[in-house]
Amino acid sequence: MNDAKIIALTQPLLDGDKIKFGEQQKMTPNEFIAYTARVSNPSNQHNTLTSEKLLKYLIEHKHWSPFEMVSVTMEINTTRDISHQIIRHRSFSFQEFSQRYADPTKDMSFVTREARLQDAKNRQNSIEVGDETISSSIGDINPSGLKFQWNSVQEEITNLAKDHYKDAISWGIAKEQARAILPEGLTTTRLYMSGTLRSWIHYIDVRAEEGTQKEHRQVALAAQGEILKHFPSLTEYWYPTPPSPEEYEEWVCFTGKGDTLVTSLEQPKSWWWRFWS
Ligand SMILES: Cc1cc2nc3c(=O)[nH]c(=O)nc-3n(C[C@H](O)[C@H](O)[C@H](O)COP(=O)(O)OP(=O)(O)OC[C@H]3O[C@@H](n4cnc5c(N)ncnc54)[C@H](O)[C@@H]3O)c2cc1C
Repeated sequence: MNDAKIIALTQPLLDGDKIKFGEQQKMTPNEFIAYTARVSNPSNQHNTLTSEKLLKYLIEHKHWSPFEMVSVTMEINTTRDISHQIIRHRSFSFQEFSQRYADPTKDMSFVTREARLQDAKNRQNSIEVGDETISSSIGDINPSGLKFQWNSVQEEITNLAKDHYKDAISWGIAKEQARAILPEGLTTTRLYMSGTLRSWIHYIDVRAEEGTQKEHRQVALAAQGEILKHFPSLTEYWYPTPPSPEEYEEWVCFTGKGDTLVTSLEQPKSWWWRFWS
């Protein structure tokens, strides 16, 4: 849940100047950005040796237009309240599971949401509930009691909504009307989000930030991991220094991802690859 993975990516048809196993390789999408940026320097356009360096220069100087030359489509699985935030990013194109045509109680699942507390000082933040008793303005809060209560309420609502939804369908009520009673924050959805690399960079810039709610940040961080696999030139832009072991552990906890070391020969085994794999 709250995950993103690349399912389509611009495939350049041009040869680069790298030779592998005696054969010329096609340019990677990363190298293709440098190719387009060199439009005014035709004799050097196929130079893939320095494309990394050029991309870093472009990023540093905010020359964003070459990043519009490649497109990335991701599949995102999340809840409907988060997908509502996602589709505000108007420079993307979307295709989303429709509750008008399909039955979400059959084709999609339902989730329960974390018991996080309202931050009284910062409206854009919520507070994680650990194992210790929390002193608050409404008195001491027992964390396991709170989590249990919050889960029970959500399960009750989901079961009630699902039962009534199924009843409504059995009475012949249209799906477009019956869906109105499903809780959008507990109902999962799937969407395809397609845009240029430039849009992805800026989407991740704002949605991986702390001001964005945790569930949406998880989506943005998963998207960032996917982008970095194909566009390593962006590593320094987002992570100028390697994360400390503490930051790395925090990231593993936050995203729920394990720290599998991927040993693909295609990928550099640098810190960020281990970080995002
Ligand atoms: C923390 C947070 C809280 C929000 N709260 C609300 C709210 O209360 N109510 C509400 O209605 N909306 C809210 N929004 C939504 C917000 O106002 C935008 O609608 C949403 O982030 C989409 O951004 P966008 O229009 O820039 O679209 P995008 O599709 O993300 O960007 C549009 C274009 O601008 C470019 N671009 C973006 N940033 C840059 C940049 N820095 N440099 C160069 N090019 C750039 C992109 O590449 C793209 O081509 C919130 C967003 C965030 C992140």
